[in-house]
Amino acid sequence: MKATELKKHATCSLCRNPILSSGLPLFWRVTIEHLAVDIGAVNRQYGLGTMLGSHALAATMGPDEDVAKPIVDQTQITVCQHCSLASELPVMVLAEIGRAHKENGNAL
Ligand SMILES: [Zn+2]
Repeated sequence: MKATELKKHATCSLCRNPILSSGLPLFWRVTIEHLAVDIGAVNRQYGLGTMLGSHALAATMGPDEDVAKPIVDQTQITVCQHCSLASELPVMVLAEIGRAHKENGNAL
């Protein structure tokens, strides 16, 4: 990571303190993705495997389509060492924090 990118991660997305405020030169860059399983794709993959008599063969011979797809754009947050241990926020809330920072053009 270059210095220009590090500047984007200088503040913790959760406590809004500088990432080095804990005294340790450590932080987390967390990428969050929300995906949904495509039941139709799973059924097609499973059906082809059943038809061919081998799910491994179906995986090789089939269309190799995605069986899980992102439902929203991935987002990133920066988490200081303290918050990485102390935060109990649900992943959904972390994703909203990342999305809000992205939409406002703020640092992560
Ligand atoms: Zn923090």
